[in-house]
Amino acid sequence: MLLAQNTKQTETNMSEQEDIGTREIRINPIVPTESVLIATARSMRPQKAEDAAPRDTRKHVERCPFCRGNEDKTPPEITRVPENGDWAIRIVENLYPVLGDDRQSPNMIFGLQQAINGYGRHEVIVDHSQHGIAIHEMSQAHLSMLFQTYQSRMKELYNADKRLKYVLIFKNFGPAAGASMAHTHSQIIATPVIPQNVQDEVEHSKNYYEKNHHCIFCTLVDEALTYEATIYDRDSGKIVRKIDVGQYVIERGEHFIAIKPFASRYEWEIHILPLVHKSDFIKATPEELDDFARVLKRTMQRLDSVIGGAQYNYFLHTIPLDAQYDDCQNSYHWHLEICPRTSIPSGFELGSGLFVNTVSPEDAAIQLSNVVLDEE
Ligand code: AMP
Ligand code: ZN
Ligand code: ZN
Repeated sequence: MLLAQNTKQTETNMSEQEDIGTREIRINPIVPTESVLIATARSMRPQKAEDAAPRDTRKHVERCPFCRGNEDKTPPEITRVPENGDWAIRIVENLYPVLGDDRQSPNMIFGLQQAINGYGRHEVIVDHSQHGIAIHEMSQAHLSMLFQTYQSRMKELYNADKRLKYVLIFKNFGPAAGASMAHTHSQIIATPVIPQNVQDEVEHSKNYYEKNHHCIFCTLVDEALTYEATIYDRDSGKIVRKIDVGQYVIERGEHFIAIKPFASRYEWEIHILPLVHKSDFIKATPEELDDFARVLKRTMQRLDSVIGGAQYNYFLHTIPLDAQYDDCQNSYHWHLEICPRTSIPSGFELGSGLFVNTVSPEDAAIQLSNVVLDEE
């Protein structure tokens, strides 16, 4: 079911309805066990003409626990930036943590059932003092500071507790992305195990490196920047697809690139990654993070202009700190995955494990790149 109605692909007419569009299964090059069904004709199904709920753009909300003046409505503060005066960013303990350090349930096995103690940390980062501000409305300097704050908190958590094997930082923005709080925020979940999605990427990219002596993420960046191909239908000889240099590039900065993945799981999914090989987000320099902030801001401006009021999740994937991953430094490449939520997974997705994407990544890339942005 489509949530956002204000996208171009939902404006249909009879002739478009006859078009079957693209129908193909694309394999995720990093994690080949994950695939996506690109089915563009699906976006032309009849649907209820209702717009996604308008975004909460209020600057301050009296009763919001994350707004300035309500600092006593959250559990203890861990950090504030800047340290003195009015805060711009705050990190607090989560009031309802999904993982904690209270040792309530021991590890246990009964029959086939196993349970592991839910040890870990769950913190909230109040990204900005303004309640309803979107990422693309924040200044580059603020975003740069936000990503430096992510970095320092990650370092502190790894240093403070050797049992923590991975620190995942993510953001839910908008109810369609699972956010229960409207005030702009990110979250940190630190776990005593490496999350499966990270493990899969680390392992598959290591396999690729062993065979090809090259990082697969770097190869994808190179392909996006240099690859040109024309693919013909074997029977009719007609051109079925042209892949042009730069077709999947949404933004390019000095150190970072934003790419529309060929096998995008989500209609408007975009990944941002360092242009040259870097495995560890923690080692990014302030200068690099400033460029990252610029690329992210511009990418989110494009998204906002095309889909209007994007509701999305983003998450950071970086090399796990543990020494056992030292030999993955050349094969793993840190990145941010932005997953706007314009549709709700159905029984087919749940039953098959196949993501269904109703907008061709090529069309999405054109729409996103065509947005004209002001040069700062
Ligand atoms: P989300 O559900 O993605 O919007 O995340 C909001 C997070 O904030 C959830 O994990 C809640 O447990 C947490 N939360 C809700 N109220 C408070 C509060 N007053 N102080 C700290 N954390 C809170
Ligand atoms: Zn607020
Ligand atoms: Zn690389």
